[in-house]
Amino acid sequence: MSLKKISIIGAGQAAAYAANEIRKHDKELGITIFNEENYLPYERPPLSKDSITNKKKYEELSFFSKEFYNSENIQFINKSVKKVDFTNKTLITNDAKLEPYDNLLITTGSKNKKLNFGVDQQDISDSILYLRNIEDSKRIKESINTHKTFAIIGGGFIGLEVASSIAQLGKKAYVIEMGQQLMGRVIPTQIAKLVSSYHEDKGNVILLETNIVSIELKNSVYKIELNNKSTLEVDFIIAGIGSKANTDLFENTSLNINNGIVTDEFCRTSEENVFAAGDVANFFHPFYNMQMRLESYQHAQNHGIAAAKNILGQNLPYMHIPWMWSDQFDLNLQLIGLCNDFDQEIQRGNNLEEGIIYFFIKQKKIMGACGIGKVGKVGRDIRLAGKILETKVDVDIDDIKNKEVKLSKLLKR
Ligand SMILES: Cc1cc2nc3c(=O)[nH]c(=O)nc-3n(C[C@H](O)[C@H](O)[C@H](O)COP(=O)(O)OP(=O)(O)OC[C@H]3O[C@@H](n4cnc5c(N)ncnc54)[C@H](O)[C@@H]3O)c2cc1C
Repeated sequence: MSLKKISIIGAGQAAAYAANEIRKHDKELGITIFNEENYLPYERPPLSKDSITNKKKYEELSFFSKEFYNSENIQFINKSVKKVDFTNKTLITNDAKLEPYDNLLITTGSKNKKLNFGVDQQDISDSILYLRNIEDSKRIKESINTHKTFAIIGGGFIGLEVASSIAQLGKKAYVIEMGQQLMGRVIPTQIAKLVSSYHEDKGNVILLETNIVSIELKNSVYKIELNNKSTLEVDFIIAGIGSKANTDLFENTSLNINNGIVTDEFCRTSEENVFAAGDVANFFHPFYNMQMRLESYQHAQNHGIAAAKNILGQNLPYMHIPWMWSDQFDLNLQLIGLCNDFDQEIQRGNNLEEGIIYFFIKQKKIMGACGIGKVGKVGRDIRLAGKILETKVDVDIDDIKNKEVKLSKLLKR
């Protein structure tokens, strides 16, 4: 029996690119995307950066236009899915309607972890802002316009990007991070230190190894008592304390969930005719021979496309090397591959003006690279590092160290 209809839960990046890819190959197949947001699929990276600092309008974030979806006959149902009945191949929406499917693609993304200061301080917990979607970004932008000082709880990428936006708008952010360095352990300590100093030079305050002991809200001022015995007074609190796969919908179902929806290299889940892609999927990566879950723009796009191809029966394993970036002030940070399994860490470049990249080498092969520099200074070498990594060639450490030697030379070996 030929495939008649594909339903997609969640209208984000992976969904948009999956739908687009299906249409490239099949003009007849019904495509329905269940969309709980009031927007066409849009890119999220500007939500913490350019849309807050007025460099990019919220209306400019859609991947594809309304006309595109109409002309390609990609249908949206603006409801959230509340339940999936895998046995009867049916979705149940928030208004209790039953929607049958032939094949299902789950692209529900990730959701923010939240702080909870207990029942006595529910008002404080409720007043903290988080960032995931356009509405959150608008609220944060409004709060920056109308307040002066901010506590950012969590020194990860999103918290730091918001802190950078705050400083760029002439306000001040105190970043409270309980770890020993910013951006977690995947980022080389040297890069984390450079980012920290950059923020401080621009007027933000970075507090490492710092925990919140208590928060009091009086006359619209938050008094935050810290474990180092100091107290901060700020007008607003924004938290970016990490996220998790958005799998609530599948609790108590037969779908295999383990830090996301477990899929194989073909985006197939444990249920027949059910695929998952993007942030929500904990997928098998054949290149690394391991399961992994990524929260990154490029992955969401490529994984959505890969799911589409596999839904159409092309049987292509997903092999893309992980890549992500973060922009803070005029700095661009990029990471490719995996930077936690190495026997040598090699530095190339020594200043932000020209870019600095740390290469992670194991048995003479590049496993990953992480670089930072003024915008435009690390992208090319990071891309090349990815290509060298994919070819698994042995590299000469002196060539990597020496900025005079072009990395493209290493590819030609
Ligand atoms: C503020 C921010 C900044 C970022 N910056 C960067 C960056 O600089 N670089 C980078 O590489 N990555 C960045 N990312 C990560 C990147 O945007 C994500 O990895 C990507 O959006 C994931 O795409 P996705 O399609 O998997 O999920 P999403 O784009 O999150 O889409 C999931 C959609 O599913 C919907 N949904 C969930 N449950 C249901 C349901 N039951 N019914 C219907 N709909 C549902 C959600 O509302 C959402 O619209 C950023 C993310 C955020 C939030």
